[in-house]
Amino acid sequence: METIGHFIDGRGVEGGSARFADVYNPARGEPCARVALADSQDVNAAVAAANAAFPAWAATPPLARARVLFKYLQLCQQHTDDFAAMVVREHGKTFPDAQGEVARGIEVVEFAVGIPQMLKGEFTDQIARGIDAWSMRQPLGVVAGITPFNFPVMVPMWMFPVAIACGNTFVLKPSERDPSPSLLHARLLKEAGLPDGVFNVVQGDKTAVDALLDHPDVQALSFVGSTPIAEYIYARGTASGKRVQALGGAKNHMVVMPDADMEMAVDALMGAAYGSAGERCMAISVAVAVGDAGDRLVASLAERTAALKIGDGMTPGAEMGPVVTAAAKSRIEKLIGEGVEQGARLVVDGRGHRVAGCENGFFVGGTLFDHVQPSMSIYKEEIFGPVLCVVRLPDVGSALELINANEYGNGVAVFTRDGGVAREFVRQVQVGMVGVNVPLPVPMAFNSFGGWKRSLFGDHHAYGPEGVRFYTRHKAVMQRWPNTASSGAEFAFPQMK
Ligand code: NAD
Repeated sequence: METIGHFIDGRGVEGGSARFADVYNPARGEPCARVALADSQDVNAAVAAANAAFPAWAATPPLARARVLFKYLQLCQQHTDDFAAMVVREHGKTFPDAQGEVARGIEVVEFAVGIPQMLKGEFTDQIARGIDAWSMRQPLGVVAGITPFNFPVMVPMWMFPVAIACGNTFVLKPSERDPSPSLLHARLLKEAGLPDGVFNVVQGDKTAVDALLDHPDVQALSFVGSTPIAEYIYARGTASGKRVQALGGAKNHMVVMPDADMEMAVDALMGAAYGSAGERCMAISVAVAVGDAGDRLVASLAERTAALKIGDGMTPGAEMGPVVTAAAKSRIEKLIGEGVEQGARLVVDGRGHRVAGCENGFFVGGTLFDHVQPSMSIYKEEIFGPVLCVVRLPDVGSALELINANEYGNGVAVFTRDGGVAREFVRQVQVGMVGVNVPLPVPMAFNSFGGWKRSLFGDHHAYGPEGVRFYTRHKAVMQRWPNTASSGAEFAFPQMK
């Protein structure tokens, strides 16, 4: 079986650790490779390579750095389907969905090639007689990224293209569930002319993460994953003086007002709840049906959910693939059972779903609950599977109260034809990314991505202008040349004269 290793200082290595984990093809339900799990010495080697590469890379003019990324951008476009096939094999999502993920990652590279524009400082002539002032942004040094299983191509691309364009060097610790795409990134970056050591990959688990968290030469850490781990990363990373952005889990609501275009709302819910088997941090997992919208919504959703086309992600026409692991499947099915026990109405039951030819695959069928209450575990927990909960409420005010009381605040949507309702909803909702008749309002690469509340620990959102701020430090400069006469020693605090 293939062994997936690390990429350190410009070459693939297996590392010194004797620990490995199986990588599964979730549609087949069997291992397709094994991945090396780094120990602290492997992490030290990657950080040392990144540290050694930093001075020369930081001194490389931004336009020259952008040109390397431009070449890499072209290579990514040529290899889109290779990336997508890897994602289907190790994650399980459908091929068109994986192609979409790659395209959204490439958009961040398109943003990053414009880095000379983003790094321009501000200049003020003559802030005092003979003195000018300006600001500039400088890279931090070695920065690390720790990423989740659900977007193995795109989420790392939220981080390293911007970090590298800003002049940092990077160590990526991808998810051990789907580790292959990170090595393709590394190879393509090298082919594009990136100097050795600027981008490194260490495969692994908590051991590798902790080694990065504690390493004194890692200046900043970007994390995307579940909320408990995000909170841990933020606390431990900031305690050792690092800059940290840690994006966590979610429970995203979509409010359907009685005046909404119901066909549009149902289409939106089908894609947003069941696309990628619900394994998206922006997936809609709660539909809030306001007033008499509920009956119409549930009737239509029930029919469509039962008819979902589920299969191996490479099967043409498949709308949904398996979930990522056997453990994820049994956890999701257990939560469905709890929903029934706690009194929700199970309209479509996806437990025990079988796909012909993939009998061992980790499939869960589309599942729909109606009359869900906020006290139930299917409402409270992030299920991260193809389970949609319908909550019925009398008005938009109670919908806002419910959403604002939720511990998460990643994404939200409202479907209505009433501009006034939408406007107030947008202003009052305590969530970082809001859609009006748009179910998955994932910001474009030139904006920035991030949630509120326990969906993000830290001050900066990911990629876009926020990413540039995260990966650089601001420096303020004042300058005077000796052709202006000295006014003598000044003992009072300097002020403009
Ligand atoms: P996870 O938290 O289990 O793992 C994320 C990363 O942390 C992986 O690289 C993993 O190896 C590492 N890790 C796991 N346990 C650890 C531990 N105890 N100590 C240190 N590191 C550890 O998340 P996942 O299951 O891979 O991904 C799904 C989660 O990610 C969901 O909660 C989802 O909402 C979230 N997510 C959030 C966003 C966002 O932008 N907010 C985007 C994608 C996914």
